[in-house]
Amino acid sequence: MEVSFFIIWYHFFIYCSVKKYLSYHTGMRSDYAYKKEWYREILENPESFRVEPFRICGNLYFVGNKDSSSLIVDTGEGLMLFDTGYPHIQDMLLDSIKEMGFDVKDIRMIFHTHGHFDHFGATKRIKELSGAVACISKVDAALLRDRPDMALCDYLPGVKTDFFTPDKELEDGEIVSLGITKVRCILTGGHTPGAMSYEITVRDGDKDYKALLCGGVGFNTLNHTFIEETGLNWRGDFERSLKIWKSLKPDIYLGNHTTQSQTLERMKAGRSFVDREAWSEFIARIDKNYHEMLEDEIREEGYYIQ
Ligand SMILES: [Zn+2]
Repeated sequence: MEVSFFIIWYHFFIYCSVKKYLSYHTGMRSDYAYKKEWYREILENPESFRVEPFRICGNLYFVGNKDSSSLIVDTGEGLMLFDTGYPHIQDMLLDSIKEMGFDVKDIRMIFHTHGHFDHFGATKRIKELSGAVACISKVDAALLRDRPDMALCDYLPGVKTDFFTPDKELEDGEIVSLGITKVRCILTGGHTPGAMSYEITVRDGDKDYKALLCGGVGFNTLNHTFIEETGLNWRGDFERSLKIWKSLKPDIYLGNHTTQSQTLERMKAGRSFVDREAWSEFIARIDKNYHEMLEDEIREEGYYIQ
C-alpha cells in the first residue's frame, strides 16, 4: 500500500516538474503576466533612469527617462507635452524640460497615450505649474473615473500616484491644432481600451514630417491571467488596432516606452529618426508576438480567450 502510494506520488512529482519546466521554457501564459521584478529597478534606483534630453527632429524633443517616453513639440504658440512618466521621478522630467531650454509654464497641452500610472505620473503637478489642458481619450477618461484600480498604480508599491482631472476628452479621429502643429488622434485600444496613438506633424526647416507616437502595445493587460483575474478582455480592441496600425505610414516612429522604438540606441548611434521602415517592422513584430501568445495559451490551456 505504502509502496504504491509512493509510486503515484513520485510520478505526480515528475509530471509537475516536467510541466513546470516546459511552461518555463516554451513561454506559457505565466510569462506574459505582470512581474514585480520589471519595476524593481526604477523603484529602487530611479536615478539610473535619467536620460539627457535631446532633439529628435526639428521641433520634436525627447524629455523622458530610460523607460517611459515623454515628448515635447514646440508649436510656436506654446508647447505640447506627450506623456509625463512615472510619479516618483517627476523632478527628473521637470529637470529635462528645463535642460532642453524650455519653461514648464509654456506647456499649453498635455496628451496621454493611455491611462496608466507610468504615463500620467507628473500630470497633476505640471497642470498646476502651467495651467495646461490635459487631454486623454474619452474611453480612458471613463476608465480612470470608473476603474482607477486599472491605472495599475500598485505596480510601484509604496509610491503615491496623483490622479488628474482630464480637461479635454479626445475622440477617435479628432485633430487638435496649436501653432504650426497638428495632432491626429487615432483610437488604438487593447493595452487599455482607450489607448490613443498620435500622428504629429513635425517641422524641420522647410520640411514637414509625420511622427507617430504609439498608444501602447504591452501584453500585461492582454494575457490570460489578467483577463481571468479582472474579467476585462480588450483583445478584440487590440486586434482591430493591429489592422489600423498596419495601415499607418509614419516618417518617424516613437514608442511610448523607449525600448519599443530603440529611441535611445538610435540617438546614441546618431541615426536619423526619419526612418520609414521602423514602424512597419515594429508592428509586424508585435503582431507576431501577439499570435505567439495565443498559441502558447492554446498549448497550455487547450483554448484561448477570444
Ligand atoms: Zn500601460
